[in-house]
Amino acid sequence: MAQFEGLTPSQTVESVGRLLGCSPTSAKVAEYLDQQDPLRPLRGEFLLPKVSELPTYDSVEVDGSTDCIYLVGNSLGLQPRLAQRYLMEELEKWAKIGVHGHTDGARPWAWAENNIEQMMADLVGAKREEVALMNGLTVNLHLLLLSFYKPTALRHKILLEAKAFPSDHYAVESQIRLRGLNPEESMLLVSPRPGEETLRTEDILDVIAKEGESIAVVMFSGVQYYTGQLFDMAAITEAGHRKGCYVGFDCAHAAGNAVLQLHDWGVDFACWCSYKYLNSGAGGLAGAFIHEKHKDTITPALTGWWGHDLKTRFQMNNVMELQPGVSGFRLSNQPILLVCPLQASLEVFHKAGMVALRKKSLLLTGYLEYLILHYFSQDHTQPQKPYVHILTPSDPQQRGCQLSLCFSLPIRTVFQELEKRGVACDLREPSVLRVAPVPLYNSFSDVHRFVETLGGALRANYS
Ligand SMILES: *Cc1c(COP(=O)(O)O)cnc(C)c1O
Repeated sequence: MAQFEGLTPSQTVESVGRLLGCSPTSAKVAEYLDQQDPLRPLRGEFLLPKVSELPTYDSVEVDGSTDCIYLVGNSLGLQPRLAQRYLMEELEKWAKIGVHGHTDGARPWAWAENNIEQMMADLVGAKREEVALMNGLTVNLHLLLLSFYKPTALRHKILLEAKAFPSDHYAVESQIRLRGLNPEESMLLVSPRPGEETLRTEDILDVIAKEGESIAVVMFSGVQYYTGQLFDMAAITEAGHRKGCYVGFDCAHAAGNAVLQLHDWGVDFACWCSYKYLNSGAGGLAGAFIHEKHKDTITPALTGWWGHDLKTRFQMNNVMELQPGVSGFRLSNQPILLVCPLQASLEVFHKAGMVALRKKSLLLTGYLEYLILHYFSQDHTQPQKPYVHILTPSDPQQRGCQLSLCFSLPIRTVFQELEKRGVACDLREPSVLRVAPVPLYNSFSDVHRFVETLGGALRANYS
């Protein structure tokens, strides 16, 4: 799409409309953008449910034989086509050679995760030695905080968002209690300004500048799960370091969504899950990052045999030879059945590259925004009139692929109407519909179909 280089998404959509001699909102524009999309073939690497296969489908509303409009990769990514094959290979290996599978075959179980860590590291902008794949996200957050959160009388606080994901909030709360401290005093929460829905970077930096001396750890999300806001991780890290705080990020909604440079930004630690944008399947293997600058100074509070140097791990002499950095944080041997689907997905990411994906993502989400702004009123100050209000920042640099939408109608009603019509998206209490066109497998036509369907869903309730 070289001819559109340098244009904003709305300029691109309007240029295509002129080029094709049709309205910029025509489905033809979506088809054209799909044809021009160099990443289009990647959709074929994933298994997309048909409308009729969804349990919520209502045959009165739509034809069930088409692909569903899957805009919920921010919650559970689609199954990579190769996941099943890789899983079958390991099940077969287990059947045929049993315990020898630990060291034999293309994916020896005893170090299976090591084979995919380079791809994982590339995706988050880290060196391979800075990344470990293990456990679940919340477990990794705990393991990291056990080492990074060393409160003193003066510096005892953890800074996080007031509306952090519940698991992160609970993890931080319990870490504070574990040290004999009181969350009321040691948990510092930042909220948007009154009347605003997302945080201003300047306000986050301001709190750090003002309160930094009492903050032990700044613990933020990379992309906010509810609003879709992408935080300026580089600036937050720098501000935290200026005040002597450790800075960590939960990248659950950022990994595979935004371009991350955890190493170059100097982030101290990070964790993320892999079943959202990284498509590893429910409960998939999570990631942890510790910057190499800490490799000899930050050690795990809890240890297990998988943190032992591989070369001597199996000598069983009970003398710990701890691997440096995040590798020393490993506790248990790896679940090979979780490695398989993650490998299948990371291979697709590796082929595409995060920079190219992000480029498509900016246009794809910009297109979604364009159509919503075109078709629906945004005025949410007059609740008696129908509106669709976008909570997510309009600045593309401050968001990933997700847009969070609020409606004049009750959110459950909108959600059910969409589900009946073959849309898979996500309702978040109290009042948001999260819609995430994922550049890896979503098309411009998906976005166009979604906005048309949304129009029908809303009209059905304004008779
Ligand atoms: C999805 C998500 C989690 C989920 O935690 P698990 O330990 O994987 O169950 C936690 N935190 C954030 C920010 C998330 O988006």
